[in-house]
Amino acid sequence: MVRHCPTCNRTSDEAHFYGDFCEFCALEKIGNKLPTEVKVTVCKRCGRINVAGDFTEKDDAAIEQVLRSHFKAFDLKLISQIDSAAIVSLSRYEDNIEGLRREVALKYVKVMCPRCNRQSAGYYEAVIQLRGNNQRVSRMMHKIEEVFFGAGEFIARVERANNGCDIYVSSKKLASAFMSERKLKPVMSYQLAGLKRGKKLYRNTYALHLD
Ligand SMILES: [Zn+2]
Ligand SMILES: [Zn+2]
Repeated sequence: MVRHCPTCNRTSDEAHFYGDFCEFCALEKIGNKLPTEVKVTVCKRCGRINVAGDFTEKDDAAIEQVLRSHFKAFDLKLISQIDSAAIVSLSRYEDNIEGLRREVALKYVKVMCPRCNRQSAGYYEAVIQLRGNNQRVSRMMHKIEEVFFGAGEFIARVERANNGCDIYVSSKKLASAFMSERKLKPVMSYQLAGLKRGKKLYRNTYALHLD
């Protein structure tokens, strides 16, 4: 039996039917309900974007994940993106929809991520004091920078000292892990930094001598 699309009058000989409608009208109806704009929360300082609550580097995978959360009913693939728009391909196999292309505007909402917030406030939890051989000190400093930035932490500041430097870092947990993973044996000291909800808060100092 030949069916007619109630919207455009195409017949089932001319087009596939999804439910009562021809494929063209069915896709158009779906398309009208899809978002045309997606908000992306971006840190104005470091440029990372918020993906499901965590700030992460803004690359294709991160943008794709943000878009997915707005097209939950579909299997979404990012085809391409420029700063202000993305082209996506949508599929929903139970409805025989495959590769429906849509353009989505990306609207950036600028905020400051927690890391940059703490950084701009001069926050630090520990000081790593490196002393000794110049080359070993600077190699160790680069390693510390690499590990802290890689873990989403930061270095608040570096002060040159006689024979080395003091590195003010954002996490004492990471500083301790850094030392123990490399079997380093710094001389530890603790300085009372204040109270947080009635608990004493200490800053750790790790003094490391590199010969
Ligand atoms: Zn139709
Ligand atoms: Zn940031």
